[in-house]
Amino acid sequence: MEIYLDNNATTKVDKKVLDKMIPYLEELYANPSSMYNPARKTAKAIEQARNQVGELLGVSDSSSIIFTSCATESANTAIKGIVSHYGTRENNHIITTQVEHPCVLSVYEDLERKGYSASYIGVNECGDLNIESLLNKVNEKTILVSVMHANNETGTIYPVKEIAAEVKKINKNVKFFVDGVQAAGKIPIELDNSDIDFYSISGHKFHAPKGIGALYVKKGTLFDPFILGGHQENSLRAGTQNTAFIVGLGEAAKLAKNALEFENKEVRRLRDKLESGLLEKIKNAKLNSKSSSRVPNTTNIGFEYIEGELILLYLNDLGIYASSGSACTSGSLDPSHVLRAQKVPFTSLHGSIRFSLSKFTKEDEIDYALIEIPKVIEKLARISPFQKELKELGM
Ligand code: PLP
Repeated sequence: MEIYLDNNATTKVDKKVLDKMIPYLEELYANPSSMYNPARKTAKAIEQARNQVGELLGVSDSSSIIFTSCATESANTAIKGIVSHYGTRENNHIITTQVEHPCVLSVYEDLERKGYSASYIGVNECGDLNIESLLNKVNEKTILVSVMHANNETGTIYPVKEIAAEVKKINKNVKFFVDGVQAAGKIPIELDNSDIDFYSISGHKFHAPKGIGALYVKKGTLFDPFILGGHQENSLRAGTQNTAFIVGLGEAAKLAKNALEFENKEVRRLRDKLESGLLEKIKNAKLNSKSSSRVPNTTNIGFEYIEGELILLYLNDLGIYASSGSACTSGSLDPSHVLRAQKVPFTSLHGSIRFSLSKFTKEDEIDYALIEIPKVIEKLARISPFQKELKELGM
């Protein structure tokens, strides 16, 4: 049996998405910027996909959607594009959170090295953002605020619409960027009539292939484009469009929009069953995803006094695939920056595992995981150097 519980890292491509893409890799290969009939067909398919992505994001004017290669490109485009357009010697202040994905944090750190002043806002022990502290940092020098919509490690949802509105009350010139990668397809999104200026998504997080993403740019918002060249995507992102993958992203967006209720009911039910089952059966299990506001598919659990990498290796041998944090930072032995920001105690920081489900997760897979994971933890507890502490927990 193989049980894939790492859907926040990437998801399986939906067969329906693949079927829509295939014709654009076979006979419908014309360059969408060309003038002849086959090209008009591919250009039309791109516009249909743009509308489908617009619908997922609650955007009625889909011309505000730009296709990119991934969310990392979208985030780089937004952040660097805003800073390049609006930054000056005086106006050089940028704000984000301590729990962003590396595609935001690395760009901020790079901008700091180039002379920008950055504020990183913390979270409380449940993972919720300190909004008051963020608003206190906004001043007349601030040009950009970036807050993710949902955290990839814990699933915590941040109230980005409300934060954007409050930020603009303090300084209406601030541009507001949201990394929406882990929210798209999991919770409803409504960008129309919001104060959010930029919003990024990545197809492979909701059953489209890897290598396709999008960036919403609020109508009339100026920024300096990141990739220069031809006039594709309204001259905002040059390069021949990847028609087949854009069509796949559009179809995945349509399916995700239609499956939001299923996600919220069925995926949530299975996630809750896994979470409460593990917490009940395993005495050293501590919940890290403690916010009352989180996406339906994610849970993060710390197993005290046990090494996370070992848990993952043992689970791998059983065909259960999960992760100890962001796929982009795995390979580094540093404990998760998200859990550290949340002040997860060191006793469970190194033994924290993220389980993330999808619409393809089955009940018997969760049942199997609920039998096997406690056995793995028990085995590892027996070889842990913290015998006294584990005994105190009743293990
Ligand atoms: N933002 C978040 C919250 C993510 O979880 C990820 C991927 O894990 C990204 C951005 C980057 O997405 P991509 O690797 O598709 O560029």
